[in-house]
Amino acid sequence: MNYNSTTDNSIVVSAAQAISQGISADGGLFVPMEIPKYSEADFREMLKMDYRGRAKKIIGDYLSDFSKEEVADCVDNAYTAKKFGGENPAPIVKADFNGNEINILELWHGPTSAFKDMALQILPYFLTKSLAKKYKGKEAVILVATSGDTGKAALEGFKDVDGTRIIVFYPQNGVSPMQKRQMTTQEGKNVDVCAIEGNFDDAQTGVKKIFTTQEISEKLRENDKLFSSANSINWGRLLPQIVYYVSAYCELVNNGTINFGDEVNVAVPTGNFGNILASYYAMLMGLPIKKFICASNSNNVLTDFINTGVYNKERKFYTTISPSMDILVSSNLERLLYILSEGDDKKVKSYMTALKTDGSYTADSSIMEKLTEKFFGGFCDEAATRKTIKDIYSQSSYLSDTHTAVAINVYGQYVEKTGDKTPVILASTASPYKFSKSVLSSLIPEEKICESEFDMVAQLNELTGTAVPEPLAQLKNKEVRFSSVINSDDMSKYVLERLGIE
Ligand SMILES: *Cc1c(COP(=O)(O)O)cnc(C)c1O
Repeated sequence: MNYNSTTDNSIVVSAAQAISQGISADGGLFVPMEIPKYSEADFREMLKMDYRGRAKKIIGDYLSDFSKEEVADCVDNAYTAKKFGGENPAPIVKADFNGNEINILELWHGPTSAFKDMALQILPYFLTKSLAKKYKGKEAVILVATSGDTGKAALEGFKDVDGTRIIVFYPQNGVSPMQKRQMTTQEGKNVDVCAIEGNFDDAQTGVKKIFTTQEISEKLRENDKLFSSANSINWGRLLPQIVYYVSAYCELVNNGTINFGDEVNVAVPTGNFGNILASYYAMLMGLPIKKFICASNSNNVLTDFINTGVYNKERKFYTTISPSMDILVSSNLERLLYILSEGDDKKVKSYMTALKTDGSYTADSSIMEKLTEKFFGGFCDEAATRKTIKDIYSQSSYLSDTHTAVAINVYGQYVEKTGDKTPVILASTASPYKFSKSVLSSLIPEEKICESEFDMVAQLNELTGTAVPEPLAQLKNKEVRFSSVINSDDMSKYVLERLGIE
């Protein structure tokens, strides 16, 4: 199976090349040229498999230039019981919210307690195998600008992976205390972490500049290195996310929640549109998903788009208690536009150009007809997020993080509006202990909350009796390894220095 660019159908590459490059040379995103369709027999076969078995089948069908053994090696090394706290890396927990039963798909049992582990634990295996096929003998240098979750998940995924180096930049004052601690204590001999004076955009702009500076790429080439990307537009990050929707469906059949063939809805707390798009690919492969409930926080650019057809990024940016969804340009939406326009690369290109130059575009009626048939868009603000955390905890003792709470709230809105009680799979994307302060302050008065981050973790644990993820608990005793803070103008110098090729 080969891959196209969303903005130029004449570009055709193998899976290994799509993963190595991350983004197409014309600036478009790589999309599979055909989508594997599963029959009833295929799905029935998967009912009998465990998570890793399902992952091997689905991933293998998309990475046709990987051998069966290579795919198995990726999956078996990534989704171990040790790394994900159990045989099923993505367990389902049932909870009640305002009289509706919700199947909560917990995607945060990996090493960094956020759902990004589901993709970033396997991406390094995809990438090193892809490089061996396309760029033999080269060392991949992964540069990441992060607002918190991606950086840590990428560090954990790439630490001590042969043939790779990873350098993460984060805004000095733009991540939560827990996220900062997670990154500055990172272990591994091929990792570097550095704070930037400035905000996330400064870090991101700095990384892009390094990527596109000819002179630096030249230097890397001379030293048998090349830049690669671990961010969410890489196909290698989207693909593993398809697996957990198919697997969750199988689990619900196996535990008697639904009958084989029944429709389900999915609800996803959305930022860059990767997670929800993966569920859409699962539907295209034959999984009976009726509605996609796309939940946003106050940065509700996607809600407006789904409801009006106008995507407008020129709007106020809100810093919220669900920071991983504080996004105004949802990159992976580009792939959905490509699918819904039936591969109209020129149309997608015109929308993306308009977004860059005018800050907005309007999708045509043929796209919007298909979009609104399957997608429901909704959002909730800070007060509603906090109330949802409190309500679902008091109604069913389920402790939700701030991002998941946004999806729970919007799912509630959906049921109220439509009366549609189709069983739902709701993606839970982070451990509540990653955002202890916001979660605690949703449950108890602000003045009762402890001062330090680790005291808050203990307090939340005492209050609710829920388990603290082991890697977060251990951070308290870890030594800080990285304390550099630099000006964003000095990022390229830092990179070359760390690579030893100034
Ligand atoms: C990244 C992230 C999201 C958003 O996911 P997308 O795939 O970007 O839509 C939601 N919640 C958490 C906790 C995240 O880390």
